[in-house]
Parts: sequence; C-alpha cells; structure tokens
Amino acid sequence: MNDTTLFTDVMIFDGSGDPLFPGEVLVRGNRIAAVARGEERLPRAGADVIAGRGRTLMPGMVEAHAHLTWPSSVERVLNTMKLPIEEHVLVAAQNARITLDHGFTSAYSAGSLGERIEPVLRDMIDRGAIPGPRLRASALEKGAEGVMGVPEGHDPTHDRDIPGLIAYVKAKKAEGCDTIKFLLSSDEGFAPGGSQVLMYSEEEVQAIGRAADEAGIWLACHAQAAEAVKRAVRGGFRAIFHCTYADEEALDLLEAAKDRVFVAPALGLLYARMHEAEAFGIGRAEAERMGAVSGLELMQQVYPQMRRRGIRVLPGGDYGFPYNPIGRNARDLALFVDLLGFTPAQALTAATRHGGVLMGMEVGEVTAGMLADLLLVDGDPLADIAILQDKGRIAAVMKDGRFHRAPTRH
Ligand SMILES: [Zn+2]
Repeated sequence: MNDTTLFTDVMIFDGSGDPLFPGEVLVRGNRIAAVARGEERLPRAGADVIAGRGRTLMPGMVEAHAHLTWPSSVERVLNTMKLPIEEHVLVAAQNARITLDHGFTSAYSAGSLGERIEPVLRDMIDRGAIPGPRLRASALEKGAEGVMGVPEGHDPTHDRDIPGLIAYVKAKKAEGCDTIKFLLSSDEGFAPGGSQVLMYSEEEVQAIGRAADEAGIWLACHAQAAEAVKRAVRGGFRAIFHCTYADEEALDLLEAAKDRVFVAPALGLLYARMHEAEAFGIGRAEAERMGAVSGLELMQQVYPQMRRRGIRVLPGGDYGFPYNPIGRNARDLALFVDLLGFTPAQALTAATRHGGVLMGMEVGEVTAGMLADLLLVDGDPLADIAILQDKGRIAAVMKDGRFHRAPTRH
C-alpha cells in the first residue's frame, strides 16, 4: 500500500497565523515529510499525487470543548441527554465519526455521560477500528447533584472529603482517562444565580490538583464565577471553560499561567440558545433566564482582553445539544471573529496550532515532522472563515497520514 502522498498546487495555512502561501506538502507514513514554498518542487516518485488546484491545505481542526456523548448531531437530533447505555455508546461512536467528517481531527473532552465510554472510544479509534478524531478522553463531569440545579447524572461518585477526591482522581487515571472535568461552579443554565455558586472549596481544589499531578492526569473545569476561575488556576487546572465572570484578578492569574493554561468560552451553545433554540422551547425569555444573553455580553468584554494578554483562547462550543448539534463545531471559529474580535487568522491558529498544544500531540501545524492531520479546503478560510462550516467545502480530511475522506479525482 502506498504510504506517500504529495499535495501539489495548494495554498498553505501552516497554523502560525501567517498568510497563505503557495506550495507543496509531502506526507510519508503518518507524518509530514516536507513542505515546499513557491516554485520549489518535492519528489514525486512513488507518491500518490493530489492536485490541489489552488485549494487551501491546512491542519485538521481541534475541538477544545468536546462532548462526544452529548447525543445530538447534524445527522440525528435527539431531544434528550439520556439514552440506554447500549445506544449511547453507539451514538458516541457515530458522533466521533461526524466530528472527523467535519474537519476536526482532534477533540479534547469536556466531559462524558459515562465513566468509561471515552477511554474505550479513544482506544478503538487509535486502533483504527472505527473513524474518529484523536481524543483526549474524560469521564463524567463532577459537581454536586441537587445543589443549585446541577442536573442528574453529574452527581459525584467520589466522597465529599479529601481522601475521597484523591481516590477519585486515581480511579480515573486507572480507568484510562486523559483528563478529569470538575464543575467548580454551577451555571445559570442549571439554575438562575448558579454561576456564582462554588462547588469545591479552595482546599478541595488544591487536593485535587496535587492528586492529579501525582497521578499524571490533566484537569479541566467548568468555571463561571471569578473565584472558580481563580481556584482553577491556583489548583493547576489545565483547561478552564467558560470564565464568563472573570474579573481583573482572575485575568491576572490566567495571564501569569498562560504557558500552561487554556481557556475556551464555549460560545456555540450560548449563541444557539439565543438565536436557534426556539423550536426546542427556548425563546428569548428562556435564553435570558439561562444566562445566554448576559453570558455572551460578558464574554464579549472578557475574551478580547484575554486575547490581548496572550492567554490561549480556543474554539469549542459545547456541541451535542439538540439545538447545537455535533457537526456544527466550526461555527465557533466564525463566532470568535464575529463576536470576540479575532481575525480569521487568529481564530484559525487557535483551532489548529494552539489546539495541538492543548492535545499535547504533534498536530495543528503544517510543518515537516508533525503528524499528518490535514484538510484540503475549497476556498480561503482567511477570507471567509464561515466556509469551514460547510462539509462540502472540505474536499479531503487526512488523519495520521491516511485519508478519512479522499478528494475526488477528475
Ligand atoms: Zn460543556
């Protein structure tokens, strides 16, 4: 089998944020072997040659707030979060394939409706048994069920004492999770005023941080209140989601930790609740009650500041709800541009190079030596970032040097 692919006549977005440049890209095995600029030509012998015809070659995108077990996708809307386990596992596998279909070659989990679904899914994908993105797997996100409306299913399976938390962290590592998600605050979407309710004390967060460090597992959290964000940074959390109410002190802490933390606002869900959820019983008044309107306004203040401070802000928008289905993930990039003042190049860099660092894998760049996760896009996403939302414009999806979707040849 031919394991060498040469993309010719492509405009390359290399993940750095630089403008597109014309060139060629050679893939050998699962890695990018060489990138040529301008008139330089790479060896053709033995290669499967793909004529780019001026299309864009860019890194596969990274979804930074993935919920592959949230049931709804563009192929099947399910107006529930609860499925029988047998169906749930298969729906998660379907959602993994849909995520990859839409150009996301990596997904960083923000929690899973099942303790073991994602580690198993990741291993099946890595074995090549089923199609899906590279996955950083998580278990069920933890909070305190019943407190400020935290929904059923988010109940802690850990004891609410320090030894219980430490044991829980060790158990997740043993079960094969890459990251653990905690609800450090509740949420307006769970109960009005919930965003300001803290779920774990400073002492508990510190203990979780030490235990995770020792076990060698990453921490992610849902953090709305300013104090939740601060606790997360002080506790060594790596991925901090939402941060809607981050104040000056929280921003200072994030900035001081900017080489080790990543934030993701998860705009997609709020936007959908505000504009596209009417058919699901969420009109303007309900969207306001759930904090979508004020949340978006606050994010429009907070996130441009984060970007200016050099904090890595990543797209990833809580896709998987019926009104915000998996497969629409690339909409988050457009929302970064339209609502947060990112340039298309900045949004694309966040979704590729920064996403690769979030994954802790050699992905997210079109440079020699990196793993070959590549998209061939019909058009220029720097001129119109919205084209990435159209699967039909993504002519090819390559992951680990192999085509998940090969370009049609004619
Ligand atoms: Zn989420």
